[in-house]
Amino acid sequence: MSTNLCELIDVTVAAIEAHVDELTELDQAIGDGDHGINMKRGFEAIKEAREELIDLPLGGAVQKAGMLLVMKVGGASGPLYGSLLMSFGKALAENSDTANLSRAFREGVDAVKRRGKSDVGQKTMLDVLVPVSEALARALQQGVTGPELASRIRLVADQGLEATRQMEAKKGRASFLGERSIGHLDPGARSSCLLVNSVCNWLGETQ
Ligand code: ADP
Ligand code: MG
Repeated sequence: MSTNLCELIDVTVAAIEAHVDELTELDQAIGDGDHGINMKRGFEAIKEAREELIDLPLGGAVQKAGMLLVMKVGGASGPLYGSLLMSFGKALAENSDTANLSRAFREGVDAVKRRGKSDVGQKTMLDVLVPVSEALARALQQGVTGPELASRIRLVADQGLEATRQMEAKKGRASFLGERSIGHLDPGARSSCLLVNSVCNWLGETQ
């Protein structure tokens, strides 16, 4: 497990690091411009804890990564991504079988909804995470795995992100803009899409 986990940490950290400026610009348009820095700080903390994380079983490592995000990231996204990973990791710790993966991920997504008092359609990270969670459940139920699974999930994440462009923000700082938030991608949906894509690219190449 530790080799896979090691690679997963590397690909997600690299995805965030390569897109800090883009996340900053998206958040400058409809928020306060700190989303790039927030995500960079959080994922650098995960990178720094790499040795400790790879010694843990998968569920424990994901939980610990979530705790690091809560501790290190200011702003809304830290506690939200932290909740996602802590609940996802907790469910994985109970059962890390592939068959349980979609249920575990849904628990993570549900924790974001609870924490953010938010749901799909409000121009947030949930507009990527919810459809990804649903597509993952459908695909696994159909026995789809490997590159086929990766490409399905990537497509759903990209579509979820693009759908935020025409939405009016109802949660977070962007909601202060009301209708003026329409026409911009949501920064948190973009970071979720980046993370999902990085995991899918890795999955598509290695499995
Ligand atoms: P802040 O908004 O505190 O500056 P960030 O800029 O790091 O924090 O993160 C902003 C992103 O967090 C938004 O683009 C959105 O995707 C997400 N977000 C904000 N509030 C919520 C919420 N209540 N539920 C879900 N996601 C949210
Ligand atoms: Mg911000």
